[in-house]
Formats: sequence, structure tokens, C-alpha cells
Amino acid sequence: MFGLPGRMAMIGRRFIEANELPARADVAIIGGGPAGAAAAWAIERAAPGTQIVLLEQSGSLGAGASLASLENFRTCWPAPCLARMMQRSVSAFLNPAADLGENTALGVRQQGYLYVAFDEKGAQTLRRDVLHLHNIGLSHVEYLDMGEVAYRYPWLGERVMAAKFDPLAGWLDSHALIYAFANCTRAARFVLGVRGACIRLAGGRVAGIITDSGAIDTPNVVIAAGANARQVGRSAGIEIPVEARPRQSFTTPWRHAAFPEDAPCIISAAPFPHVRPEARTGAIFGWEYGGVHRLAAPEQPAESFNDARFPSLTLALLARQFGHRDGVGFADPRYLRDISHRAGYYVCRSNAYTTLPDGTRQPYESQRAIIDAWPGVYGLFLSVAHVGHGVMSSPAAGEILAAKVLGRALPDPVYADFGLNVPYVEYDAGGLH
Ligand SMILES: Cc1cc2nc3c(=O)[nH]c(=O)nc-3n(C[C@H](O)[C@H](O)[C@H](O)COP(=O)(O)OP(=O)(O)OC[C@H]3O[C@@H](n4cnc5c(N)ncnc54)[C@H](O)[C@@H]3O)c2cc1C
Repeated sequence: MFGLPGRMAMIGRRFIEANELPARADVAIIGGGPAGAAAAWAIERAAPGTQIVLLEQSGSLGAGASLASLENFRTCWPAPCLARMMQRSVSAFLNPAADLGENTALGVRQQGYLYVAFDEKGAQTLRRDVLHLHNIGLSHVEYLDMGEVAYRYPWLGERVMAAKFDPLAGWLDSHALIYAFANCTRAARFVLGVRGACIRLAGGRVAGIITDSGAIDTPNVVIAAGANARQVGRSAGIEIPVEARPRQSFTTPWRHAAFPEDAPCIISAAPFPHVRPEARTGAIFGWEYGGVHRLAAPEQPAESFNDARFPSLTLALLARQFGHRDGVGFADPRYLRDISHRAGYYVCRSNAYTTLPDGTRQPYESQRAIIDAWPGVYGLFLSVAHVGHGVMSSPAAGEILAAKVLGRALPDPVYADFGLNVPYVEYDAGGLH
């Protein structure tokens, strides 16, 4: 779409400071989280030699929601667009040499995801889920009845009635992934510490970016600024339909002895607290608790929503669900020592709706990111609203974005569902809350 072949690659260091901002680029990306770094990686792979400049406001890449992430990945997604996005991404995690370069170490642990049910109603839901996943081709996902759960995971105790198991799921080091995207680019430049990025338009098209450290001329801008996406969009006079919800996680250096190091990530029953082993002796926990705040353009750091009670409430909930008495299992007070408690924003699209028989629109919580061109402003692209899976989806998200920027066909037609103005996709509603 622009004159790429024969272009001189930018010469010099990959990571540069704000005062070294290049004067021009073919594509500029605002935001250096998983979405922005993957966009740079995928555009350069698809069109080598493209002059890409990524602007990150912080002193390092991955300074947004990924810092609070549990860094998990899974393949059991009921909506085909999400299932295919994760299958593609997980293939990159499992075979990084092919996609991210030789000697790439992502710290992958493929220990699975185990969703558990404690009553017949929950067991029925899991059975239905697995049937649907098989119907869309995800036959590796298993339904485990009570006996099978007890046989495979005796340490879970007697309360678990059934489970859904995704054996391809696991977790990785998100920081290593983000830097792997950056490090395997050749021509891209990652400018750190760039504040105040505003998009400059001329004649209805993108002309450049103005920052506190200087300006850059470019015909293409990608907004990949996580929870700040809406604010950045406003500088171009557009209102991106996203909202941000604060979400907490915490890591403990200690884990009860019965919870083994090779355990899968456990997703408990509603309200879905979840936990997995972390490092050798620790654990990492998450749960959407107090998720009532919905912010269009948050001005405060997500940590300002941290509730000091969150770790003890999560542990108490898990202890109650698994039937652990005081001092035992998740009710062991040693879990509450030396906790690292974090928060980040889940960013979701706010323009998803179903149409009721009487024609009224019923909004719903979509799991689909927006990866698309912005209509009416030539050269403006979005990779936003990656909800609670922007780490695990990042390779495919980068490739979809690259196709949009380069004016090429999508890698998979089903990825059209990530379009800005696609209001509804079946099986796309809800998350773990
Ligand atoms: C508690 C929690 C648990 C999670 N668990 C998982 C999980 O297990 N697996 C998973 O896949 N995902 C998980 N996620 C979600 C995942 O972290 C996000 O979906 C992902 O980080 C989104 O990537 P992003 O690049 O869009 O945004 P971010 O990660 O937020 O990155 C945005 C980047 O843009 C920069 N930026 C912002 N504004 C500007 C600006 N104006 N100029 C320049 N730079 C800017 C930021 O500094 C940041 O580096 C979790 C999130 C939370 C909060």
C-alpha cells in the first residue's frame, strides 16, 4: 500500500530515547504492550523493510495491563474467531523458533486449564460447554466426571463433581513475549519515554504524531494504547467505543503442600476465582471482584482501585468452595504473607449488542478485540479492547492488524469478526465473572 520495497531500513539501535525520535516513519504505533509490540513484529514480517516506529510512554515496553496479568493462555473458546485466534497464537508460543526467532525463551508451562464444578447444575454447564467445543472442532477439550477428576487430581478434594480440561492451555512470561516481538524486528524502532502523543490529521487522513519530545511524520498510525486508547483517539477527533474495568491479581511466595507444582490453572465455580502455581513454591490468583467501575478514559492508575481485602477474600472464597477448614489448604494463613498485589485495566468494546425481536438493541459484554481500520480517517488503525486475553492472543492480533495496515486479505476470514462495526457474534458474550 505504500512504497516498501527497496526502502532503506533504519540504521541504528532498536530501543531509543524520546529525544531521538525519528522524523518520519511508514507506520507509527502508539503503545508498547503486547498489542503494539505484536503489531510491529507482524507488520515487519509481512512487509520487510517497512519503517516502523513504536512510541511507548513508559521507560520500558509492557508497562500496562500485562504487568498485572496472570500470563495464561487457553484454547477452549466457544466463539470460532477467538478459538482460531488462540490456536494460532499458541502455535507461536509452542514453536517460538519458527515465528519469533531462534533462541527465543518464553518460559512456557503447558499444564492445562481445569474448570471445576461443585454441583450438578455446574457439571451440566461444563458438559454442554465441552459438547459445543467438540462441535466447533476443539475435540482436545475433555469433560471429566467425578471419578476421573478424583483419579487425576486427588489433591483437589471430594467436593469437585466434574471438570472441563483444556490440555493445550498454560502460561508464559509476558515480558519475555513482548520483548521477543521487539527483538526479532530489524527495521523497527522502539522509542521509550514518549509522552503526550497526539495524532495529527491533514485533509481527512493521518499526517503524523506530535509528542512532548517532537513530531513524527507518518501516513499510518496504529492505536494500541490499552486503557488510554480512547484518550489517544480523541486527539484525532474520534471516539473509540471501549471502556476499561479495573481488575486485580496477587502472587504469593507460598503454596500449600497438596497443591502441586505441575497443577493446571484451576478455574473455580461462580464467581470464578482462579489460581495456578507460580514459580516453585508460590501461586498466582485472580478474580473479577468489585468490577463495577466502567471507565471510558481512565485518568487514574488501575492500582488506585486495589482493595486491600482482595487477597483474603479470594482465599476465603476458594477455601469455602473447596471445603478447606481454618488453617488448611487455601485457608492457611501463610498464604497472606509477603503478597504482591497488582491491578490493571481490562479494556472491552462497548459497541456490542444483540437485536431483540421487537428491534431494540441489547448491549452485551463482548470478548472480541477491535482490530480494524477506523472508517473515514485514512491511515488510522486500532488494536484495542483485548479484554482479559491480550497476552495470549497477541501473535494473531498482530497478524490481523498487519493485514489491515498493508491492505491485504485477513489470515483467516473468520477474523472479520474483530471488525469495529460487528455488533454481534454468537458465543462471544461474557468472561469469568
Ligand atoms: C488482573 C489481570 C489478569 C490478566 N490475565 C491475563 C491472562 O492470564 N492472559 C492474558 O492473555 N491476558 C490477561 N490479562 C489481559 C492482558 O493483560 C491485556 O489484555 C493486555 O495487556 C492488553 O494489551 P495491550 O497492549 O492492548 O494493552 P496494555 O498491556 O495495557 O499496554 C498498553 C501500553 O501502551 C502504553 N501507552 C498507553 N498510553 C500511551 C500513550 N499515550 N503513548 C504511548 N504509550 C502509551 C502503556 O504504557 C502500555 O505499555 C489480564 C489483565 C489483568 C488486568
